[in-house]
Order: sequence, then C-alpha cells, then structure tokens
Amino acid sequence: MNEMKSLDNDAYKWMTVPETPARHWCRAFFNTDVDCDIMINNICESFNAWILDARGKPPVTIFEELRVKLMRRIAVRKEKMKGYHGNICPKPKAIIERDKEKAAMDCIATFNGGDIAEVENIEGSKNVVNLVMRTCTCRRWDLTGIPCKHAKSAIYMKREDPDDYVAACYLKKTEDLNEYL
Ligand SMILES: [Zn+2]
Repeated sequence: MNEMKSLDNDAYKWMTVPETPARHWCRAFFNTDVDCDIMINNICESFNAWILDARGKPPVTIFEELRVKLMRRIAVRKEKMKGYHGNICPKPKAIIERDKEKAAMDCIATFNGGDIAEVENIEGSKNVVNLVMRTCTCRRWDLTGIPCKHAKSAIYMKREDPDDYVAACYLKKTEDLNEYL
C-alpha cells in the first residue's frame, strides 16, 4: 500500500476509505473462520436471477416464495447426495484431486520435528505449513478449508491422506448430522 501511495495517492485514498475496509475485498484480510475465499459476487447475481419471478411482489409473498424455493432446493440436493458415497462432497473432492500430482512434483516438504513443515516450491519460493492449525503461509488452506498443494505435499511427507485434513463443512457426515439438528 505504501508503494501504491507513492505511485498514485488518489488510488491509495480510494482503496483506504473506511466505508470499504480491506477485509471486504482483499484475501489477505479475509476471515478464515468461514472456509470461503470467494471474492466475486456471482452468487448474488445467480440468486437475483433465481428469484426474478418473486422480486416484484409484496414482501410477505416474496418471503413465502423464497421459503418454498429453498425448501425444494434443499430437498433436491439431499436426494442427490443420498446416492453419493464419498466422504467429501463432490466439488471439494475434485479440488483436492486436481493438484495432487502437482503437489508431489512441485513441492518438497521438510518437517521441523513436529507438525510444522517448510515447503520448498519448484520455482524457489517457500511456504510454511502447520498441520495442527491447518494453515499455510499462502493462506489458501486457511481461507478455503481445503489443503493447498503445499499442505498436500507436507501431508504426503507424513504418509497421511489430504482427505483427512478437509474442513468439516465439506464432509458428507456433517450434512448427515445436520438432519438431526
Ligand atoms: Zn499453501
């Protein structure tokens, strides 16, 4: 930010106004408790399109239509997941599988004798992975709840499975538990 200030003071001012704090638009300041690193508002756009029929109606009617729409959606999703037998939901599972090989080829993990590893990347940079805290200095794991390639490399070095390090919100059993709440 100091570098930006020296390049363009107006841009610096625009980016530091209190009405739009950095925690709303910069991943470095995102809350890591929510397991989500999405910075775009596509989900709002999709939701808006989804409720198009209801939007022009009086508030109580909108809420009633939304309630029924959501109920149907939840029911459809639950039905779909009944036929799915993996432990991790399909999308996070695909993300884990996507760069498994890359993690093995691009990263070399060295442990400190405990659960913290220094991971050297193929291009020479380094990251620190903490398997107990489930964090990596690239912050991808902290933000998404899904181990990044550095974390995977460290997990493999311990001869463990990255699937065991995925956040609980992505597990099928968490959804099953919710049914009883
Ligand atoms: Zn990482």
